[in-house]
Amino acid sequence: MNLLVLNCGSSSVKFQLIATDLERIAQNTDVRLAHGVIERVGGAGVITFTAEGSAPQRSAAPVRDTRAAVEMILRWVISDESGVSAVSSVADVQAVGHRVVHGGEHFTNSVLINDEVLRGIEDCIELAPLHNPANIEGITAARASLGAGVPQVAVFDTAFHQTLPEHAYLYALPYQLYRRHRIRRYGFHGTSHRYVAYRYRTLRGIGREATNIITLHLGNGCSIAAIRAGDSIDTSMGLTPLEGLVMGTRSGDVDPSIVDFVASKEGLSAREVESLLNKQSGLLGVSGLTDDMRELLDEAHENNDRRARLAVEIFCYRARKYIGAYLAAMSGADAIVFTGGIGENSAEVRADICQGLSWLGIELDRERNKAHSAGREGLVSADTSRVAVYVIPTNEELLIARDTVRVVTGAPQRF
Ligand code: ADP
Repeated sequence: MNLLVLNCGSSSVKFQLIATDLERIAQNTDVRLAHGVIERVGGAGVITFTAEGSAPQRSAAPVRDTRAAVEMILRWVISDESGVSAVSSVADVQAVGHRVVHGGEHFTNSVLINDEVLRGIEDCIELAPLHNPANIEGITAARASLGAGVPQVAVFDTAFHQTLPEHAYLYALPYQLYRRHRIRRYGFHGTSHRYVAYRYRTLRGIGREATNIITLHLGNGCSIAAIRAGDSIDTSMGLTPLEGLVMGTRSGDVDPSIVDFVASKEGLSAREVESLLNKQSGLLGVSGLTDDMRELLDEAHENNDRRARLAVEIFCYRARKYIGAYLAAMSGADAIVFTGGIGENSAEVRADICQGLSWLGIELDRERNKAHSAGREGLVSADTSRVAVYVIPTNEELLIARDTVRVVTGAPQRF
């Protein structure tokens, strides 16, 4: 099957075209045919489309809205100029998988989209006011372009964390706030945590039940998950993606009293303070320079910039504290898995996070860690380490494609 994977954000639409089916999934031989992104949707669009094995094709054109972006993607995919020979008409696209950010408490698995599911995604808009509307637009756009006969599947960022026990997902707030407004920890990046947990057990040749690990997704957004017997039992992001680890521009955990304090001192509304916590904090806020970890590390080394170093230090310290907390929460783990742009590429950050944890049985192998090549899966801990440390590149789009195949064919999603 040729599957279109769509990730529709508030101002961008990303896609991948992937050829896969149950047999290819079993043999890990899925093929990515093309991928791309349209940025600045709603204005002067910036378009980058790439057929596998070819150079990226870049262009600029006004892109009115998500629907126009999806139409543009499909037009390119079926055109001769794309070079994607497996797809020459829209009939060659057999299903669509959508990344949907918030599935609330209702969606615990990936599902075939029908009108009822669409209403369910709409019901979660108040929990993800920027993301879910864009996801819905993507679904209606794909339906309009491909016809109602082409199955579409929703894969939720929150679904993997629906196994959290009550004591982990409830905040110690008046209980009626949960009952009235569904205020609780949902967690995000679920597709990524689930994917690397699956790759980990495949690498080790063990089953789901034996998967007891801590996964760290460190990209622009960052989160950590405690996975016991294959299920997520705790995660650092909460009602929204703001909670938990320090991120590119997000503060992660802060004392909630800061909101009112900053509002009164700086003459801001609560909403403006929330925006400051989301967009001007984290690595960017502390360093005053950039939200980009690679640039910060360069600044710290080349110019010995004190605040760049401090930002990296706070980032790693917070991650280290969470590892300790999750080891306690799950009574020990067999492995720690790093993923995301930072987790996959920065040996320095991995070393800093794991520093001083040998008493907990976590020992990196300096050389292995340094020599680990980007884009590869591998072990970076010492042979004597009781807790193994792995680097596993994430691939959310592939998991969305595979879930789409499973839903469409009725194959089980827990495996
Ligand atoms: P997103 O969360 O948007 O998918 P990524 O997972 O690509 O983002 O992660 C982006 C982050 O990864 C940036 O902070 C970037 O600097 C960082 N990064 C990428 N390569 C390296 C590297 N070699 N060393 C340190 N950080 C890196």
